[in-house]
Amino acid sequence: MKALDLKPCPFCGGKASVFRVVLEDGTPRYEVDCENIDCEISACTSLHPTRQEAADVWNKRWEPDRLEATA
Ligand SMILES: [Zn+2]
Repeated sequence: MKALDLKPCPFCGGKASVFRVVLEDGTPRYEVDCENIDCEISACTSLHPTRQEAADVWNKRWEPDRLEATA
């Protein structure tokens, strides 16, 4: 598995990691969470079908100019 390029937590600057969550029906989902247990926000993404997707959502927090219009 190749390493994902994750930016640090936008709230505390802590390290972020991808976590695997298995749903009740056995479907794997992935989210990126801040690893700092003292982080007040406990930043995390919602659940995504792939590690890459979760990482992309996380990293986009740093690039508001690239947010897509939802018209
Ligand atoms: Zn944090």
